Amino acid sequence: MSILVLADLHEGQLAGATAHVIAAAKQIGGDIDVLVAGEGVQAAADAAAKLDGVNKVRVADNAVYAHQLAEPLGALLVELADDYSHVLASASTTGKNMLPRLAALKDVSQLSDIIAVDSADTFKRPIYAGNAIATVKSDDALKVITVRATGFDAVDESGSASIEAVDVVVENSQSSFVKEELAQSDRPELGGAKVVISGGRGMGNGENFKLLDGIADKLGAAIGASRAAVDAGFVPNDMQVGQTGKIVAPELYIAVGISGAIQHLAGMKDSKVIVAINKDDDAPIFQVADYGLVGDLFEILPELESKL
Ligand SMILES: Cc1cc2nc3c(=O)[nH]c(=O)nc-3n(C[C@H](O)[C@H](O)[C@H](O)COP(=O)(O)OP(=O)(O)OC[C@H]3O[C@@H](n4cnc5c(N)ncnc54)[C@H](O)[C@@H]3O)c2cc1C
Repeated sequence: MSILVLADLHEGQLAGATAHVIAAAKQIGGDIDVLVAGEGVQAAADAAAKLDGVNKVRVADNAVYAHQLAEPLGALLVELADDYSHVLASASTTGKNMLPRLAALKDVSQLSDIIAVDSADTFKRPIYAGNAIATVKSDDALKVITVRATGFDAVDESGSASIEAVDVVVENSQSSFVKEELAQSDRPELGGAKVVISGGRGMGNGENFKLLDGIADKLGAAIGASRAAVDAGFVPNDMQVGQTGKIVAPELYIAVGISGAIQHLAGMKDSKVIVAINKDDDAPIFQVADYGLVGDLFEILPELESKL
């Protein structure tokens, strides 16, 4: 068996999710190659070569692959996939953008969002917002799989894989990059942060989200939100955690003024330690919390910040 892992890039650098996808690939077993595709991605390729379990890093460094557009990257994957039994990517926006194209063009079914590997053809994936786990088996010769990064512990950086250039350059007349607008933040990226503090409808308004800033600064945390807080316009939707937002599994997740609806839990319940601050001691969030603080967040947050 041989496995190709599509590397996730964040601003041209290797994103943390890739180390988790390689952990899933190791459980499948076989030779693991990593594809790093983009423009000016040598540093990302070097970082991928250090990940434990990687046999070879294949680098497609060309302007046509810049900005990770789905059309050229999908076509590149189609070109390369014949050498592999499995193609894996993280279930991030990148992986979700690329792999369905590959699966469709190869006429195989995609296995999405796996959280466990039973064998080389059988996997587990959550359904119904994580309330049930489906075991799925693929008979396709090529398995195209997106991996939920939080389901697998990252491999370490003890590897020393070889790096080789891929000289396949595909044409792309279907799409072009126009612009991107990135939210400027000194905070860690929400999906990969070790600590996340999220606010919900209980925050009352967007201005009150500033109460989370001081704590986030002290803990080096990313700030997230519930969908109710996003829908109410308190904060932008790239901060949403949950079934229809980002899936996070940090070392520490602090939920402030969040009731704990199943759709929110679907995005954070795998966090290592969960702290909930809520004035309602019946709030469902306390059923998943390791530590609960029952009280008014407007009193607790300043006190917590001063104690930190
Ligand atoms: C298809 C679908 C997808 C969805 N996807 C998501 C998703 O991705 N993410 C998500 O979060 N939700 C999602 N939802 C919405 C979800 O069902 C809930 O409506 C939402 O999570 C509620 O957000 P909340 O906990 O902030 O608000 P609420 O449920 O209104 O809870 C607010 C909490 O704040 C507490 N509170 C109020 N004032 C204070 C105070 N002063 N001090 C302390 N505590 C206080 C209250 O006791 C309450 O528990 C989805 C829903 C659907 C139908």
